[in-house]
Amino acid sequence: MHSFDLCIIGAGPAGLLAGIIAASAGSRVILLEKNPEAGKKLLLTGKGRCNITHAASSAKEITETFGKNGRFLHSGLSRFGVAETYRFFENLGIPLKVERGNRVFPESGSAKDVRDRLLVEFSRKGGVFRMNCPVHALEASPRMVNRALLKDKSVINASRFIIATGGLSYPQTGSTGDGYRWAKALGHTINPTLPALSPVRLAEGWVCEVSGLSLKNVRLTLLVNGKETESRFGELDFTPFGISGPIGMDLSRNIGHALNRQQKTELKLDLKPALDFKSLDRRILRELNAAGSKPISAVLETLMPKKLIPPFARLCSLSLEQKSATLTKEKRLELSRLLKAISLKPLSLLGFKWSLITSGGVSLDEVDPRTMASKLTENLYFAGEILDLDAPTGGYNLQACWTTGYIAGISAAA
Ligand SMILES: Cc1cc2nc3c(=O)[nH]c(=O)nc-3n(C[C@H](O)[C@H](O)[C@H](O)COP(=O)(O)OP(=O)(O)OC[C@H]3O[C@@H](n4cnc5c(N)ncnc54)[C@H](O)[C@@H]3O)c2cc1C
Repeated sequence: MHSFDLCIIGAGPAGLLAGIIAASAGSRVILLEKNPEAGKKLLLTGKGRCNITHAASSAKEITETFGKNGRFLHSGLSRFGVAETYRFFENLGIPLKVERGNRVFPESGSAKDVRDRLLVEFSRKGGVFRMNCPVHALEASPRMVNRALLKDKSVINASRFIIATGGLSYPQTGSTGDGYRWAKALGHTINPTLPALSPVRLAEGWVCEVSGLSLKNVRLTLLVNGKETESRFGELDFTPFGISGPIGMDLSRNIGHALNRQQKTELKLDLKPALDFKSLDRRILRELNAAGSKPISAVLETLMPKKLIPPFARLCSLSLEQKSATLTKEKRLELSRLLKAISLKPLSLLGFKWSLITSGGVSLDEVDPRTMASKLTENLYFAGEILDLDAPTGGYNLQACWTTGYIAGISAAA
């Protein structure tokens, strides 16, 4: 008899959840993690605050964000969807709250709380956690995994195995695509992997001046060959080389496609999406008149963060010292136009190193959506980002980890 019923490789969100569920069901579980700690990537989620799920009104709302592959999650979400995720974390002592855009976070605002509570719960249920334990390969006979071979040449025997090693993004957190290699060796198809939810490098040199600035409630629109193709409202961050933040990252997939096809690619940033051009221009006229002899910089301060004023003024050739009331109509219209549409030119996406997730991965055709079991290898299961599932920002990607982790854990324990 094996000393473990179940061996889970990868202590990220998917592996941790699968471990808790299987151990709760009475399985003897070992969780192997190559890092000196669990959930290194989980600690970074939501800028350290962990956007744990999305307060969606239906399972369909979640599945649709994953595109056509989202159908795979349908059955899993009916057993462990958003409501069950809420209950699970609240029972763990992690109350949740809904924020702007229906993003759900722990009330404590701490991803570390989430990681620590998951780990404590896993041990409380009798699971064995082994860190600093990189798995090198899976040894298999036809249609069966026999054991996990560790880098230090030791072996772990178990009746069943779950691969939860994540994708290729942020390799500095441990996700280096090892699981793809093992799945491929066992006959699985690995759909081409690409960085997704990536920061975007821009041509505009001025962005480095505003690096670190985060804009809320702005709109970013992608134009390909002059045609609007996608538009997002929300939060945008500036980096030393371009943009990131939810709306920048969410557009990155189509920006990448357009750049790869060498199409003309442009972004328009609307700093005042709540106002149409005419209303905005009227407001600016009022403010310029009210400001009278004060410098234009005083008016700009009411319209944008201070850090953005110098590059903005340069873009529309405004002298910040000029008296507000002396601005010509032409210049005022130019200012209003720029507030509604700052043009940005994407050059490239940052690669896996800085992309939040990986698109592509283990083909869903070869995994049973009701159990997460491999259709090719009897005692093998998959959970989390290793599967060919990816969604925009908003808590969807972690929800896919909780859902597939739960299903894999409960099925492997059965
Ligand atoms: C900066 C950042 C912020 C993010 N924010 C959010 C957010 O707020 N909300 C959201 O929904 N999603 C977010 N994501 C995406 C989310 O973190 C991932 O989708 C999720 O972590 C994937 O979980 P996983 O368990 O499948 O894999 P991972 O989290 O990648 O975990 C896999 C684990 O397996 C281990 N491992 C790999 N190979 C081996 C091996 N050979 N032997 C042993 N162990 C191994 C790794 O060390 C790692 O700990 C964010 C991602 C990043 C990078």
